[in-house]
Amino acid sequence: MTQPQSVCILGSTGSIGVNTLDVIARHTDRYSVYALTANKNVALMLAQCVQFHPSKVVMQDEQAAEQLRVQLNVKGLNIDVEQGASALAELAASEPVNIVVAAIVGAAGLLSTLAAAEAGKRILLANKEALVMSGQLLMQRAAKYGATIMPVDSEHNAIFQSLPATNSGVSFAGVENIVLTGSGGPLRKCSVEELSVVTPQQALKHPNWSMGRKISIDSATLMNKGLELIEACTLFDLPLEKVEVLIHPESVIHSMVRYSDGSVIAQLGQPDMRTPIAHALAWPERISSGVEPLDFKQLNGLHFEEPDTQRFPCLRLATEAQAVGGTAPTVLNAANEMAVDAFLNGFVSFLQLAQTVEYALTEAKISPASDLTTIIEADTIARQLAQNKIDTFRNKLS
Ligand code: NAD
Ligand code: MG
Repeated sequence: MTQPQSVCILGSTGSIGVNTLDVIARHTDRYSVYALTANKNVALMLAQCVQFHPSKVVMQDEQAAEQLRVQLNVKGLNIDVEQGASALAELAASEPVNIVVAAIVGAAGLLSTLAAAEAGKRILLANKEALVMSGQLLMQRAAKYGATIMPVDSEHNAIFQSLPATNSGVSFAGVENIVLTGSGGPLRKCSVEELSVVTPQQALKHPNWSMGRKISIDSATLMNKGLELIEACTLFDLPLEKVEVLIHPESVIHSMVRYSDGSVIAQLGQPDMRTPIAHALAWPERISSGVEPLDFKQLNGLHFEEPDTQRFPCLRLATEAQAVGGTAPTVLNAANEMAVDAFLNGFVSFLQLAQTVEYALTEAKISPASDLTTIIEADTIARQLAQNKIDTFRNKLS
């Protein structure tokens, strides 16, 4: 029997992390959990340690790391707990790891994902922000050091599945373009007046998917589709005009590929992330994921519409940022992370989210995203610009 593959999950306490562990628990003969990491959710990390017995854990937060050490001791579990961003990157690159699941939310996942790429790991990429903010850097490092990037984001995973397979990945032979589908989020039918008074609770209520808070807000503003548009261009090395965005409220078709002969190949399934996670883990093989089969007789039709970039300008902003290139997507992503946080904290309104991002994109100096220092600098400046805009919105509120 072959050895199980050793897995490191960056962000194991999040929605993707928990779903990944659910799939792994079904296949302990194939996968062993070598390392888990999180920001500060000690209770869930402790429960995961009890169930999966990882050799190593990293908590981003120092106090959380200390609390976890104490609690593991009480349970008699001998697990090495470290703390901080450099420990995270070292772990992702460490020798025993075969598979790195990049499931941290936001720019906080960039350095550990880059470290995994430079160590030539198989990377299951959920952390789209790391890819969006880094231009071609992550893909270039992966190619240079022989890392494999498997898309976990359901749309990109669907596209991967709908392309002809080659020995090393997929080919674009005969492809006309790709169609990224999106549900349109919980506010799809709201007027601008209604959008102006949307609360975080309303925006967090996604109709089809259960996800972390940041991506849920991004889904409501359609920034998620914008980030995914950039993600698709970067992952598959496609120009903007080869990627079409289509609203499909039922979230049954997860994306499609159009071919030159008029064929369209789509991937369908339940809106459950365990399917793309299981696919990315096992590819080119298939494993069970625990997801219910799709019952076509229960579907009440499949619907499609154009995205409305008037009411949801974030999708337009993302498209423009990708067209500009360089550090424009870095700025878009950083300002958006700040705006989402401010919205969740009640400091800006729903419509002011896009205004914050637009302000940062207009004010920031855009340079070629040629190296990590330039990218991190662009990210930092965009956060400052976004904060200035957020402060003006807050001052008007008080
Ligand atoms: P989440 O908020 O549920 O979980 C985030 C994880 O990252 C947690 O384990 C958290 O502890 C960790 N984390 C947060 N900040 C950190 C920091 N500063 N340093 C280290 N660790 C940190 O998020 P999620 O919904 O699981 O999403 C994770 C990523 O996957 C995002 O990039 C998201 O866009 C992408 N994604 C998610 C889904 C989904 O269904 N949830 C689908 C597609 C893509
Ligand atoms: Mg997605």
